[in-house]
Amino acid sequence: MSATDTHQHYDGRAVIGGERREARSGASIPSVSPVTGGSIADLASLDAPDVAEAVSGAAAAFESGVWSRASADDRKATLFRIADALEKRSAEFARAETLSMGKPVSEASAVDVPGSVATFRWYAELIDKVAGEIPSTPPGSTALVSRVPLGVVGAITPWNYPLEIAAWKIAPALAAGNSVVLKPAETSSITALMLADIASEAGLPAHVLNVVTGPGRSTGDALVRDPRLDALTFTGSTATAKHLMVASGETGLRRLSLEAGGKSANLVFADVDDIRLAAEKAAFGAYYNQGEVCSANSTILVQREIVDEFLAAFRAAALEYRPADPLDPASTAGALVSERHADTVEAAIEEARAAGAQIEGGTRRSLGNSSAYIDPAIILGLPVGHRLHAHEIFGPVAAILPFDTEEEAIGIANRSGYGLAASVWTGSVSRAHRVSQRLVAGTVSVNTVDAIGLTTPFGGFKQSGFGRDLSVHALDNYTGLKTTWIQHG
Ligand code: NAD
Repeated sequence: MSATDTHQHYDGRAVIGGERREARSGASIPSVSPVTGGSIADLASLDAPDVAEAVSGAAAAFESGVWSRASADDRKATLFRIADALEKRSAEFARAETLSMGKPVSEASAVDVPGSVATFRWYAELIDKVAGEIPSTPPGSTALVSRVPLGVVGAITPWNYPLEIAAWKIAPALAAGNSVVLKPAETSSITALMLADIASEAGLPAHVLNVVTGPGRSTGDALVRDPRLDALTFTGSTATAKHLMVASGETGLRRLSLEAGGKSANLVFADVDDIRLAAEKAAFGAYYNQGEVCSANSTILVQREIVDEFLAAFRAAALEYRPADPLDPASTAGALVSERHADTVEAAIEEARAAGAQIEGGTRRSLGNSSAYIDPAIILGLPVGHRLHAHEIFGPVAAILPFDTEEEAIGIANRSGYGLAASVWTGSVSRAHRVSQRLVAGTVSVNTVDAIGLTTPFGGFKQSGFGRDLSVHALDNYTGLKTTWIQHG
């Protein structure tokens, strides 16, 4: 099957109370595939009354205890069934993800879907392993500190990992006993809707997981402003995160976890053990997922004495990320999420060129009816102070800058204002520790790039937001500490 001969059409109706639903107004928006250039779903565009209904149902389900007070064994079994069903339908989900947002189907199959399955299994396993505390209290009393679910969790997710980031939020929120109302990105909502269908089939009680579809400024805004939300978890841009802090605060106090953008640096020191490996991984760190990765290492700082050798290896590695038909299992890079987004990435490349930088690659391409493809771009010679070094381009664009001293590299890496990720390549253990300690980043990867795993927290500092996905720490987003003090003497 090639990019041009697919006419798949998905169900774009929202999921409220375990059922597929149109918007009350009947409004829908086309979900345009960057792969085919055509609409692959009519996405229900929900207004405030639809969203209120979803939140009401979620709140009532929470109060009823059907899920929030279900035994850990029941909750665990249900999350396992969701994982099993998702795994069984991997190929279908991978294809839907590719058609929705353009990533190669090989990546969706190898990373996004199995990663989501593993996330559900990991939090299923965690449910009965989180113990409370019995702190020291005066004689004659015993206090129990337990983690309790918060209630209704609103989750708002971006388009770059539509299924996986939804799983990062839904799995721990449900494991803890909450009800969830998810608002996926309007450009790529299909797999989140399919996931909600699977959850119903797996026996998750109605109203415990709802997916409300539509634009951020209307559907998302209605969700954020609903006073019955007990928590809001978000992944997306810094601009939206700032807006959500304000909008959310206007209607109530709730737990917020806001994972925002990033502009991450990769520091390659001359004492690195293997320059070629560093260059190959650097290309992965910059161009993987078409560069549409919040923690993409798009600023590559290379110590001057190894720049030529590094660059030769990097140029060769970058060629591996030339886009091709995303539905071809042999493709290693696909389409950007939309032609409009490709326009903004192209504009950034042109801005760098206009500022006197030398650009290699970065050519816009068409495939079939879509022109959402861009070759990996290497930017050389862009002045350190240029705004693009602190601006998230969110496309296959890497800037390479030489540096002389460790201090200088740390300074450049820390000046973007973001604090999501950084990588360090060095053969010196002392330097690895010294530099890692100074980098402002939620995750510092040493002698690899963009390290991430279910067991380690993922999130950032500064303009990259706060709150952590993954690991046991994600429970902090979805649970509160409750003290029960028993006076018995
Ligand atoms: P975005 O901020 O435009 O949208 C994210 C979500 O917020 C979407 O569902 C959107 O509909 C919704 N939204 C937008 N405006 C809203 C509003 N006024 N009220 C309520 N909801 C609203 O981001 P995007 O373009 O979808 O995703 C790309 C961004 O996400 C990048 O900045 C990237 O760095 C970031 N991201 C961050 C992480 C992380 O973990 N830190 C992971 C992936 C992506």
